[in-house]
Amino acid sequence: AAKGAGRNRFSYFTPALQVAALNRMRLTNDLRGAVKGNQLRVYFQPIVHLRTGRIHKAEALVRWQHPQRGLVSPLEFIPLAESSGLIVEIGEWVFKEAARWVRQWRSQHHPDFQVSVNQSPLEFQRDGQGYEHWFAHLQELGLKGSAILVEITEGLLLDAGSGVTDKLLQLRDHGIQVALDDFGTGYSSLSYLKKFDIDYLKIDRSFTRNLAPQSSDMALSEAIIVMAHKLGLKVVAEGVETAEQRALLLRAGCDYGQGYLFAPPLPAAEFDAMLKAQLAIADGARR
Ligand code: C2E
Ligand code: MG
Ligand code: MG
Ligand code: MG
Repeated sequence: AAKGAGRNRFSYFTPALQVAALNRMRLTNDLRGAVKGNQLRVYFQPIVHLRTGRIHKAEALVRWQHPQRGLVSPLEFIPLAESSGLIVEIGEWVFKEAARWVRQWRSQHHPDFQVSVNQSPLEFQRDGQGYEHWFAHLQELGLKGSAILVEITEGLLLDAGSGVTDKLLQLRDHGIQVALDDFGTGYSSLSYLKKFDIDYLKIDRSFTRNLAPQSSDMALSEAIIVMAHKLGLKVVAEGVETAEQRALLLRAGCDYGQGYLFAPPLPAAEFDAMLKAQLAIADGARR
């Protein structure tokens, strides 16, 4: 396309762009081998009940241990996984890992333990396929649907066809709950909350970050929490990093918090150790 446009005048591919594009291509190629090559990991981050400090939920977050590059952030590779379609295979693997661990945590820590998994629009809207294979897998493990929570984003609901509604109903029928992730970053039309029967609302980190008494983000968060509760939803605040943020959220009636104040996403074994320590403290307090 740049051919007749004269030197340097109309060239889309400046060297920097070329390098970035090449880098993405290489990374996408490497990603193809990552699932089978055993390079993916699932980390778990606690979702803490603010009033009691108890941990009965965790979010599963995928990590990629690249043989040369080290740990690659999902912010970098999830978009590549989405554009290449690899996200479906990755998501299936994450789901199975989540199921394996939630079974252990249900039997060892709390019978209602729940692990949430993120689902990209592409995964959710997979043509001609619902979540039957998930239900079958959970059944094989002797798990109820309530062991799993699915996190979706507003964009999915924005142009939701009947396929989306059907899948949400299918999940509900099998006891799998649904959370609306990153709430506040997109269109945040509150009509979705009523229309789609969502169970949890996750307030985006960008609100939590600027929480301060009297701030506009405080007012917005309070309004979101009140409204969510009126519609029967529970609220999780993302990105809780300070004790002050926790206190403000608690005062605003927020149900759960997730963030570095409590713990970063942890390898499963470390998360497991943290749960054991929490249990030991609770036992000690009872005595
Ligand atoms: P998300 O679902 O909104 O996940 C929360 C992100 O916030 C995670 O980033 C987590 O590490 C980060 N985070 C948690 N607490 C704090 C905090 O206190 N401060 C700050 N600054 N950040 C915090 P992560 O793990 O890098 O994941 C990024 C995004 O990648 C996720 O955002 C999610 O959209 C996507 N993702 C991760 N795993 C999966 C997966 O298995 N499947 C799909 N489809 N997407 C995934
Ligand atoms: Mg999420
Ligand atoms: Mg989120
Ligand atoms: Mg996010």
